[in-house]
Amino acid sequence: MDDKRKLEFLRLFENMISKMTFPDHFVREEFIDALRELSIFFRLSKGVTEYFRSVSDEKIGVGDEIVDYDEGPADVIAHQRRIVSAAGAVCRVTLYMSKDEKPLSEEEAAHLDVVARSLISFITRNRLATTVERLSFYDEDNFRNLRYFFRHIERLMDENALFGYTLIVINCRQFSLINRDIGRAAGDIVLRRYFELFDDTLEDHGLICRVGGDNFAIICENNMVSEIIRLVEGVPVTYDEEHGKRVMLSSCAGVYTLPADISPEHPGEIFGPTYALSQEAKFEPETTILYMSRALSEEKERAAHVRHRFLEALEKKEFQAYYQPKVDVTTGRLAGAEALCRWYENGKLVPPGDFIPVLEQSMDICLLDFYMLEAACHDLRKWMDEGKDIVRISVNLSRKNLIDADLLQRIVDLVDSYKVPHEYIEIELTETKTEVEFERLKNVVTGLQRAGIKTAVDDFGVGYSSLNLIREIPWDVLKIDRCLLPVKGDAEEVTRLMFCHVASMAKNMGLECVAEGVETTEHIDLMRENGCNIAQGFYFDHPLRIEEFEERLVNNVYELEK
Ligand code: C2E
Ligand code: MG
Ligand code: MG
Repeated sequence: MDDKRKLEFLRLFENMISKMTFPDHFVREEFIDALRELSIFFRLSKGVTEYFRSVSDEKIGVGDEIVDYDEGPADVIAHQRRIVSAAGAVCRVTLYMSKDEKPLSEEEAAHLDVVARSLISFITRNRLATTVERLSFYDEDNFRNLRYFFRHIERLMDENALFGYTLIVINCRQFSLINRDIGRAAGDIVLRRYFELFDDTLEDHGLICRVGGDNFAIICENNMVSEIIRLVEGVPVTYDEEHGKRVMLSSCAGVYTLPADISPEHPGEIFGPTYALSQEAKFEPETTILYMSRALSEEKERAAHVRHRFLEALEKKEFQAYYQPKVDVTTGRLAGAEALCRWYENGKLVPPGDFIPVLEQSMDICLLDFYMLEAACHDLRKWMDEGKDIVRISVNLSRKNLIDADLLQRIVDLVDSYKVPHEYIEIELTETKTEVEFERLKNVVTGLQRAGIKTAVDDFGVGYSSLNLIREIPWDVLKIDRCLLPVKGDAEEVTRLMFCHVASMAKNMGLECVAEGVETTEHIDLMRENGCNIAQGFYFDHPLRIEEFEERLVNNVYELEK
């Protein structure tokens, strides 16, 4: 090879390298052109690259073969190079020439070998990237997975382009029944076809991925939403073309149309709430599609804030016990009080409705309940030490506490540590949801009663309070929920009738009866007529700060209208 030819080789080789090292805008045709020029330079007639995943695949000839160049008789092998990669894959380049061409010189063969090795390293690296992509961004059934989905959203985030898109998370309805009826294998086909229906509809206006099982996540341009929702609401899916067999498939969905000011730090921040919404949709008896509203997304943010701040707030004693008096309507005397939790966060009052339900979703509520029980014991102790006449204080205990095997002992120990006589403590509990819980509730109430601590069934009349609840559990007090106190208008008479019956039942069973939410003289009259003697409500007092409540303790008679 003279100098001129060597320079020409270097130019062609450099051209090939430059074509293969711009993976971002890799253009296959340009790369093939570069190879063609090199083939002409080396007088080659054909070039073949083969790729096998393993040596055994190579042995049985299972792999990919690409003919990059084929321009004449391939009579003799001019050069061959085979490399086994670290991962065990085999890549082979075979270069042919016509028997009429001048064979390669030793120097030429050496230069050609550099080309072949570069080619192999390029191919194996690309294959590796493809394999990594498959493993990372596709699931075991070859559906794009959540990581793929997040990567797509991240790209939109980078371009500040999220506004104008809607996130939809869907969950097939009763897919387990479909699996049972047509078999798992056919079920898999249904899922694949269902996925493809969405994929085909979306084209490049959106993306669908599988989150897992029969859950899918979609992000699409807002104008696609109605079409997608039509599919979600129900679509026939063919799983056996030959026999024309199909099933009707519909889904539950959470839908989140991203607002203009959306700027998540991570895709999970918008996916998480939408997924949660889709799970909620599952339990909705009627609607199968739930839409995220601004109010709802704010609520979810607030809930996240509560969970995040709770332990610190507890530590910093941001929670306070307020006391709402209970008054005996026959005498006007203060008969007791309920401790109700108030949260002052940076001096601002957070209403219990904003944090209690959130805390009730985890065991956090139990920490708060014991904090409140301790506050009540602390305050009772203080009043006793000050020589005040004390009244019984009731504390709410969430059902979540029932799984604590030491619940009873912990309550007794806490009360005893403040040396408060047991009869001044009352524990309010609400109805239970399951039979197991019911048994636990029964045990706890029975135990508390043995220990001399009073128990009340709270919010009776709300939900599905069963009569078993009061027949089988030895409560001391029944608190009639305010929904059983009649208000002018709707169903006033029926409500009044129910109140009468619940109150007389309580009386006959020897339960102390408290009416909650007493607001008017009519309520007081109704109570008196039916022997329900204790009133708790705005008619007498709102929940009070401790200083205010202490005044009621000292001055403990309310004026009653005649
Ligand atoms: P609850 O135990 O049924 O408490 C009574 C609620 O009714 C209180 O609301 C009280 O302010 C309100 N109320 C009292 N009188 C009237 C009235 O005349 N009219 C009306 N419209 N409402 C009245 P609050 O303080 O907002 O508490 C709401 C709920 O939060 C409580 O309902 C209770 O379930 C829960 N809660 C409060 N503190 C705690 C706590 O420390 N632990 C647990 N587990 N739950 C708590
Ligand atoms: Mg209560
Ligand atoms: Mg109540």
